[in-house]
Amino acid sequence: MNLSIIVTKNQDLDNRILQLHNLYSVIPHTSCKKVSCADWCCSKLKESMDEYGNFMSLPLIYNIEYYAIAAYIEKNFIASEKEKLFSVEKNGAKCVFRKSDPPAGCMIYPVRPFSCRVYGRKTPDFFWGIDYPQGCAQSIYCPDCEPEDINAETRFMEKSYHFIWRELEKLSKGLKVCPQECEDVFRKTTGLNELLVLGWIERNELMNRNKNWYETQFEQWWKIYSVLF
Ligand code: SF4
Ligand code: SF4
Repeated sequence: MNLSIIVTKNQDLDNRILQLHNLYSVIPHTSCKKVSCADWCCSKLKESMDEYGNFMSLPLIYNIEYYAIAAYIEKNFIASEKEKLFSVEKNGAKCVFRKSDPPAGCMIYPVRPFSCRVYGRKTPDFFWGIDYPQGCAQSIYCPDCEPEDINAETRFMEKSYHFIWRELEKLSKGLKVCPQECEDVFRKTTGLNELLVLGWIERNELMNRNKNWYETQFEQWWKIYSVLF
């Protein structure tokens, strides 16, 4: 993986990552009533497979969250771990950051994305900047997820939840989604300037592939993944 386009020193990106952490810092704490949840929240990929077995990898993240996680990995992991985490190989149906050895847990817990931070809570039917049909949020609710301060949780859901999704979108705009020399093919194929939300592995692919891949395989890739959003 050529990490240079992701972690090159950049004041604008540093500021955005700081703003991201400020947003995360207002999210109230919850505790889990269970000793082990059998990966319920980190392995729900089978449910999102298409008829050919394609699915978007976890975690599903905004572009700014990709950069924040990438910077954290760059700083805190050894070379062999980095290579694995930035690979384009899926981790079966599990999130690539889910520890396989006990104790179970998240390898990037301090920078885990917003979607992971709200998973299990009672949320409004609103995700990724989109109003979902009424009742959809029940599918992510976990009865073992207990707010530590119920008043703070209510305030958060009423005042900050929608705001944070919208800020994530704003912070993600204008960040690179692929190598510079591949941008023309990206735009021509997708009709878009950028992709704000994508799975970790899929974003690794877009950042890591070369011009030849974009010219010969990106169209097919886009046919598969554009319908999985
Ligand atoms: S990033 Fe961490 S919390 Fe989120 S799905 Fe992966 S392992 Fe679970
Ligand atoms: S709160 Fe629910 S989903 Fe979250 S870790 Fe506990 S059991 Fe799993």
